[in-house]
Amino acid sequence: MINIVLFGKPGAGKGTQAEFLKEKYNLTHLSTGDIFRFNIKNETDLGKLARTFMDKGDLVPDEVTIKMLESEVDKNQDSAGFLFDGFPRTLAQAEALDAFLKSKNQSITATIALAADDNILVARLLERGKTSGRPDDQDEEKIRNRYQEYNEKTAPLMNYYNNQGKFHAVNGIGSVHEVTNRLSLVIDQL
Ligand code: AMP
Repeated sequence: MINIVLFGKPGAGKGTQAEFLKEKYNLTHLSTGDIFRFNIKNETDLGKLARTFMDKGDLVPDEVTIKMLESEVDKNQDSAGFLFDGFPRTLAQAEALDAFLKSKNQSITATIALAADDNILVARLLERGKTSGRPDDQDEEKIRNRYQEYNEKTAPLMNYYNNQGKFHAVNGIGSVHEVTNRLSLVIDQL
């Protein structure tokens, strides 16, 4: 069983790459952003709560996010492995995920970051915002706030996984196919 965390700033291409990797390695793709958006669309209580944070580009509180992620993992008991996309984003989430997997005799196999320059990513997100319909992609101030959240709360996770010998990074700039190949090279050596 392999459990992979896809790591990277907003717009780095995590979702796009996950679509290819989940097929190639038979993994269950869990994107917390997608699950929140599904709940917003269906007007659930979770969606209403998450929206108040997401619309501003703030992170949704840990307690809510961790509970939701754990319940999604439990819904996929027969999975051959997970591809976590957009989770964990804080130290508390990373620690909770480790403890949760340990309770199931599992662990994170590797974390792979898609590295890219901020200015390229902001431009990409604004472009995506024209068609994605996502309010958090359409306003440069919200986008900058998402980067601030990333730098303050998520970037420290690189050290967390590095200290466990589980951190890898690939160049996230290139064609979708090129980046998938770079990720595959890392995964094939795990
Ligand atoms: P994403 O689709 O991964 O860019 O996530 C979109 C938004 O969903 C983020 O800006 C946060 O508001 C929220 N979100 C997604 N994943 C998490 C997480 N692991 N922790 C907190 N908030 C999250």
